[in-house]
Order: sequence, then structure tokens, then C-alpha cells
Amino acid sequence: MTTTPTPSTTEWTERYAGALMNTFGPPKTVLVKGEGAHVWDADGREYVDLLGGIAVNALGHAHPRLVAAVTEQLQTLGHISNFFASAPQITLAERLVGLLGADARVFFTNSGSEANETAFKLTRRTGRTKIVATEGSFHGRTLGALALTSKEAYRAPFEPLPGDVVFVPYGDEAALAAAVDVDTAAVLVEPIQGEAGVIVPARGYLPAAQRIAHEHGALLWLDEIQTGVGRTGAWFAHQNPALVDAPVTPDIVTVAKGLAGGIPIGACLATHGSGKLFDPGNHGTTFGGNPVAAAAALAVLDVLTEDDLLARATAIGARLRAGVGTDARVRETRGAGLLVGLTLVEPKAAEVVAAAQDAGFIVNAATPERIRIAPPLVLTDADAEAFLAAWPRILDHAGLDQTGVTP
Ligand code: PMP
Repeated sequence: MTTTPTPSTTEWTERYAGALMNTFGPPKTVLVKGEGAHVWDADGREYVDLLGGIAVNALGHAHPRLVAAVTEQLQTLGHISNFFASAPQITLAERLVGLLGADARVFFTNSGSEANETAFKLTRRTGRTKIVATEGSFHGRTLGALALTSKEAYRAPFEPLPGDVVFVPYGDEAALAAAVDVDTAAVLVEPIQGEAGVIVPARGYLPAAQRIAHEHGALLWLDEIQTGVGRTGAWFAHQNPALVDAPVTPDIVTVAKGLAGGIPIGACLATHGSGKLFDPGNHGTTFGGNPVAAAAALAVLDVLTEDDLLARATAIGARLRAGVGTDARVRETRGAGLLVGLTLVEPKAAEVVAAAQDAGFIVNAATPERIRIAPPLVLTDADAEAFLAAWPRILDHAGLDQTGVTP
């Protein structure tokens, strides 16, 4: 009996180019299977996934609890419209409000961009329109979220974008104070800038942003799409004492990515009065808060709690930062928990990503000299140690010269 051979990565890649819009460039490989922090490509090659779908796969791949939650919910009640409510949706909203530790209301979406669109519209309901955002920010690709994203290359082809957004240098308290005024609806900040290459501000920055916003009657809006849901070792990065030196109580928090461990979901949480700014008819979504996505998110929150994965993110993240930083070809390491960034002594991040993939590890080049690592929170010690053992060899193969580097 003959069996039909399964297509190779090369064949899939050709078909991809023929069928999909070229927005991402050619895929680095074509993945067919995952388990824990491991994935396999169509040629049968195995990789340790140190990117986790860009800070999404908190429980890794094919986690039995996530699979069971999704399966069970789909067998029970898969989708309803937002004319109706469901138990997972309500329970998840309550859980998120509890984790935030403030009186808040939630609007569910399907992605980070949509969570930010929701928040952007919410800020317009204050009667003010100006948003003060930061240079190096990333808030998404839809037109509203793009208007809040500073990178010129992303913005320029799509102008005009929704207006009244000003950008100030990230981490610069004085620049923020100079830009915020009585016309400002909200100050929008990422607690760590992930897409810019894991840039961590001083611990006083978020408390200062809150003070400056509130002095002018503006809202403090934190984009925790990448940093939220345990990624940095706290439920929300703004609650992490490693990142802030005083309590921060944001008015709006947007989350997505890791929330349902890979099932699409996002959420806009708004505290106190700002949670009540929308009236019926002001906003909507077909899929947002779908019972399956909400059940998946509840399973993620349960496993993160039961398996103490926030503490694990802190410990294993520290180990990874210390380990990669011992090589003199790494200029500095940054981050908190399992959102790890490092700067190379030469702009060879793309070469490092390719060399890592050849060695069986998936990492990301956030900028030409910055590498980002955001693995599943279930990454084992053995996988972390295997990566650290391979790291000097990866840098060699990427053409980063040992000689001439001052340790
Ligand atoms: N905000 C931040 C901080 C992000 O990191 C991202 C995704 N990289 C987004 C918003 C957009 O999320 P999505 O791609 O789900 O629309």
C-alpha cells in the first residue's frame, strides 16, 4: 500500500506565497505540531519555542487543560451573539476585575488591536480627544491602534490616521509632564515596550505617568497586551514591584495575547467611572467574549494559579537573562519574568535568529540589534539550560566575533 507523502516545508512555503498576502515576508518554516514548549516543522525538525507565538502560548502547545476546556465548551455552547450572555464570559470578566484589584468593567474583543480600539473609543467619551503616547510604542495595526503606534514605517503608507495623538520619548517623565494638558483624554503607556525590544522604564515612570495624567483630569491607559496575564511574573506588569516603586491604579488596561493561551481574545478593562463611559450602542463585536475563548482564558488563569507559573516566570526569566548575558557579545539584558530582551554588540539579530533556528531554538529579532525571548511559562529548566548551552555556538554561527569584544 502506498501512502501519499506529506508536503515538505519547501512545498508549503511555495503554496503559502501563492495563496497568502505578503504581509509577513516568507515564513521561517511551516509548523505542524506542538507540545509543551516544543514545536515540529513539516520536515520533522524539532524546536524549543522560546517565542511562544510572541508572548501568547502561556501554557505552551497542546496543554491538556486548555484542550479540555475548549473541547468541553465547544461541545456545550460554542458561540452566541452578544444579544445573549454566557457563564464563561461573565466569570472571566469577574476574574479579571478581581486580578486587577479595582472596581472595573470589561469589554471583550478578539485581539490586542481591537482591545486598544475599544479603549481609544472609550477615551473619546470623556469629551476630550488628545492622546499622549510614547515614541517606540506599538499598539496594533488597525487604523485607530496604528494612530497610537509611533513607528513611521508602519504609519506612513496609511495616512491620514485618526488624529490628535502626540508622541513623547518613552520613560521621560518631564516630556510627559510638558505634553499633558487639560485637552488630554488619556496618557497611553506600555509598562514594558515589547515590540521595541523589551525596553523597561525606571520604576518611578508609571507612578509619575499616573500623577501627571490625573493632575490634568486625563485617564491613565496602560497597554498590557504583551506584559499582562503573568508574563512578567505578576498578573499585570503595573503590579510588579520589580517594575514600579509605588502602587499604580490605571483607569484603562488593555490585555490580549497570553490571556487565552492562543485562542484569540482581548479585553479592555476600565476602572471606576471610565468603565461606564459607553452607552448601549456605542461599541460592539460579533465574536468578542465568545464562550469558547472565555472558557480557554479561564483555564489559562486556573493553570497559572494552580501551577504557580508566575513565580516560575520570575525565576526562569532571571536565569535566562543571567545566562545569555554572560556572553560578552551581549551588551545588556533587560526585562521582567519571561519577557526577556537583550542587545547584541553588533546589529546581527536576524543572523542570530537564523542561527538559533538552525540549532533548534525559536527566538525573535525585535530590532536589528535586539533579541526578544518570550517563551511559554511552562518552559522546563532542561529546555532553558539547553538553550543557554547552545547560546555561544549560536552567536558564533551568527558571525558575532568573540575577538575585540571587551568583557
Ligand atoms: N499592543 C501591544 C503592546 C502589542 O505587543 C501588540 C501585539 N504585538 C498589540 C498591541 C496588538 O495586538 P494584536 O496583534 O493582537 O492586534
